[in-house]
Amino acid sequence: MKVLKFGGTSVGSIDSLKNVKTIIENQAEQTVVVVSALGGVTDQLLEMTRKAEAHDDSYEIMLEQLYNRHITVIDGVVPASRRQQCKEVIDNFLRVGLPQFYGLLYANRQLDHDSKAGIEEAIVSHGEIMSSAIVTLMIDDAVPHFSPSFIKTKDVDGERILDNSTFDRVVKEFKGCTQAVHVTQGFISEDSGNGANTNLGRGGSDFTAAIIAAALDARCLEIWTDVDGFYTADPKKDPDARIIEKMGYQRAIEMCEAGAKVI
Ligand code: ADP
Ligand code: ASP
Ligand code: MG
Repeated sequence: MKVLKFGGTSVGSIDSLKNVKTIIENQAEQTVVVVSALGGVTDQLLEMTRKAEAHDDSYEIMLEQLYNRHITVIDGVVPASRRQQCKEVIDNFLRVGLPQFYGLLYANRQLDHDSKAGIEEAIVSHGEIMSSAIVTLMIDDAVPHFSPSFIKTKDVDGERILDNSTFDRVVKEFKGCTQAVHVTQGFISEDSGNGANTNLGRGGSDFTAAIIAAALDARCLEIWTDVDGFYTADPKKDPDARIIEKMGYQRAIEMCEAGAKVI
């Protein structure tokens, strides 16, 4: 059993999704695939939230652009026989669900803090729900799994932490599954008490993948992204950056402290 995680940079375009398809189809063992939202989508969902709250109706234009982007990607990667099904999923979220959430924020400036926060968490979860639908339908016989049904959080003293029930739930979710490819969302989760939408924080898909790999005692976890590995600095910004062949925890922690978002 292997867990593969593909971040926004890997599921952002038709070409990169085609790569993802090849990588998944070349696996020789059972695979759980964890996906982030299409690159930039989480930021866009949050930007639209700010706009709607500020009574700026240009969020509607962004919503339309987001819709067109997802449809273009579907046309590019999902086989014709499943394309309509996939478009219906996207239609449902980007033409029905999300406009309702944004409409609520737009129309009710006096919403209390908790209600706004709840709506925002629901909105932001859509990025991964849409990308995972595309990846599932892109691959023949891939089995979809809804991660908030097993990745559970709870709030303790104002801090959100993973609920203890998560590992058992992951095991139960995948136990007895014989199919080769399973696809689920990174990042998103659910409160174990009240069932509210929650998430694991920005960049949290890596964490989702790590949780699943640990709970299932996977042979390995691969975090796929658009660079060849850990570098001494961001290779997109520093042409002299060198690849780090092996890295221990201490160096990883230091890199995180220095802002290396790749970790
Ligand atoms: P993903 O969307 O796959 O989760 P991220 O954007 O979170 O990917 O992280 C990958 C990006 O991190 C790379 O595209 C790279 O530009 C950047 N990056 C920053 N610091 C480093 C580093 N030290 N080594 C490698 N990549 C880095
Ligand atoms: N989509 C989320 C984010 O942009 C989670 C992730 O990409 O890991 O933060
Ligand atoms: Mg990331």
